[in-house]
Amino acid sequence: MNGGKQRRIQQALFMNGHTSNILESMVGVGDMVLLDPLTEEACINNVKRRFYAEDIYTYIGQVVVSVNPYKKVPLFSPGTIQTYRGRNLYELPPHIYAIADDAYRSMRDRNRDQCVIITGESGAGKTEASKIVMQYVAAVCGKGEEVDRVKEQLLQSNPVLEAFGNAKTLRNDNSSRFGKYMDIEFDFKGDPIGGVITNYLLEKSRVVRQTEGERNFHIFYQLLQGAPQSLLNKLRLSGTCEKYGYLNQSHCVAVDTIDDAAHFQVTENAMRVIGFTETEIQQVFEVVTAVLKLGNADFESYISFNGTEACSLTDEHSIEEVCKMIQCDHEQLKQALTNRTMDICITGLSERVVSTLSSGQAVYARDAVCKAMYSRLFSWLVGRINDSIKVRTRGKKKVMGVLDIYGFEVFEDNNFEQFVINYCNEKLQQIFIELTLKEEQDEYVQEGIEWSHIDYFNNSVICQLIEKKNTGILAILDEECLIGGNASDHSFLNKLNEVCIRHEHYESRKKKSCRSDKTLPYDCFRLRHYAGSVTYNVQGFLDKNNDLLFRGLSQTMFSCDHQLVKKLFPDGNPRRQTKKRPPTAGTQFKNSVAELMKNLLAKNPNYIRCIKPNDVKSPNLFDDSVVRHQVRYLGLMENMRVRRAGYAYRQPYDQCLQRYKMLCPNTWPNWLGHPREGLQALLTHLRVKPTEYAKGRTKLFIRNPRTLFDLEERRRDK
Ligand code: ADP
Ligand code: MG
Repeated sequence: MNGGKQRRIQQALFMNGHTSNILESMVGVGDMVLLDPLTEEACINNVKRRFYAEDIYTYIGQVVVSVNPYKKVPLFSPGTIQTYRGRNLYELPPHIYAIADDAYRSMRDRNRDQCVIITGESGAGKTEASKIVMQYVAAVCGKGEEVDRVKEQLLQSNPVLEAFGNAKTLRNDNSSRFGKYMDIEFDFKGDPIGGVITNYLLEKSRVVRQTEGERNFHIFYQLLQGAPQSLLNKLRLSGTCEKYGYLNQSHCVAVDTIDDAAHFQVTENAMRVIGFTETEIQQVFEVVTAVLKLGNADFESYISFNGTEACSLTDEHSIEEVCKMIQCDHEQLKQALTNRTMDICITGLSERVVSTLSSGQAVYARDAVCKAMYSRLFSWLVGRINDSIKVRTRGKKKVMGVLDIYGFEVFEDNNFEQFVINYCNEKLQQIFIELTLKEEQDEYVQEGIEWSHIDYFNNSVICQLIEKKNTGILAILDEECLIGGNASDHSFLNKLNEVCIRHEHYESRKKKSCRSDKTLPYDCFRLRHYAGSVTYNVQGFLDKNNDLLFRGLSQTMFSCDHQLVKKLFPDGNPRRQTKKRPPTAGTQFKNSVAELMKNLLAKNPNYIRCIKPNDVKSPNLFDDSVVRHQVRYLGLMENMRVRRAGYAYRQPYDQCLQRYKMLCPNTWPNWLGHPREGLQALLTHLRVKPTEYAKGRTKLFIRNPRTLFDLEERRRDK
């Protein structure tokens, strides 16, 4: 069969007799399970041809692979939504609308809670995809005053979270710097009644430092560029970003694609729609301003009378405005920034020791409190939104979750952040494989077809390496953090090397015998993830995992009369002070990932895998090597292999017979018996080998795509 012909056949297969009013031409295959041969090259070429034809969506079975078009494509409109409404998955060209519709109907009509899991690299189009899902659902579910209110609040949560949680990075002008899971809850009719948002791991280091050419979180620029003069006066802000240390160091303020002033209106309006009071809005901006101004506090070192290094504020007045605004005692804040108070336990007696900080340490303390203030503000915002969108009615509800979370990350230099993100992806892959296999298996059982074992790579061994109690990497890290004193990133690495040395997915320079890896830098370890090897630099692991704020600072913040600031630092309440350490960042993340997995596993999953076509945000470039990398890290080949391990294609008997009945004199023009027997007659007539197909209760299963193409070719030639 020549290539052109095969293509036409494959196209036709997915049109299923319907002509599409959205995409007249279908290019490549719509479902990559049917790729022949099934290779990485074929997969990349397929999405490439489709990308250039503006067919940005392609299926792997029920999974949608989405390539960021980096331009407006004519695939989204109210009309298109109506086209996809109530149709079966394969009737129309691949689209997020199709799986959103399938998921929504399955939830509404069959009571199966759903989740949509969206993964991919930064800039691949995850957040856009999540909005497309939400918009689709909002468009097809019911109407009415109350329903519209709920819909509006759910949709408006996006601009608020984006203003505070997104930033311009080198990869994406509107990059989400946090992971987000949102449950949308519906009543028995399928009308939305509320929702719950969970946020994961805001990249708080961005508050105080950004890479050259990147920006801080959008809200800072929005506030300075877009707030009305009256608000700026109240906050005593002058309106130029260059004045602030937290905004001027990366030399990137204005961005062509972003209208900060206009976005300020959008953010403020969204907050009102969600139900923030004017006082709350004002307080939120006060906290944002406090972070910005505190960031300008500077320190100079001197040697104190007892010979130790100490420091003082370069300008005594620099924190005055902040103190006024958040109603904080000036002297107390000054003390907390330049000194450290510790309770030291000596032979059972607790003694309070105050030590002075060097200017470097004071800057560290200042940055730590700003990071804490901002990230806690963000969590507070999420909580506040949840209060508004919370379901107030009783009774059974149906749920559709949407997960928009960072995909696998592999950079030149990988740190604690990449480590936990990749751990999360490892867990997602685990449930992905399990559920995909399970879905296949369930269908076989339902159809009464024999299930043959599918070999696949089970990555639970890697998850264990990271999360296992006592001996997992996270546990070893926690232990090292607990020791305090002499513990360092390096001693952590040494422990890891001791405990994990024999693990087949752990690589170190110390590995004995022939496998010792001298290419690895000294302070790194390497993990063989399901998606490939990643080298982690241990520098900063302890610090980031500890995530400690000097107690004096949280106490100072708690003692503020500013209602919101006080709320953000409950740990500064002297009466609530316990000796117990709060859980480490790693442990918190592990727990929230476990919670997430539990939540996802209770639902029927739908997947959107997002791919970025190039690194330069261009609509006209498909960079094979950039895409190849992602195809690997998204585990697409494994996905295709599993989907097709048994039978590549299946179709209900009646539809199948209808399509091919002209190929056999006995079934043409009409077959009066059961379509199943009709198909048997047809397949026997065409001498299709019995090993090539299986007859289920309601569907015919075809093992090899070639058999299918052959049928299609005969049909064309008729
Ligand atoms: P991610 O969340 O994966 O980091 P985004 O969803 O923010 O990526 O997408 C990055 C940018 O790519 C968007 O700001 C937009 O410009 C463009 N983009 C993504 N998806 C689409 C789409 N379906 N149509 C047009 N442009 C898109
Ligand atoms: Mg995003």
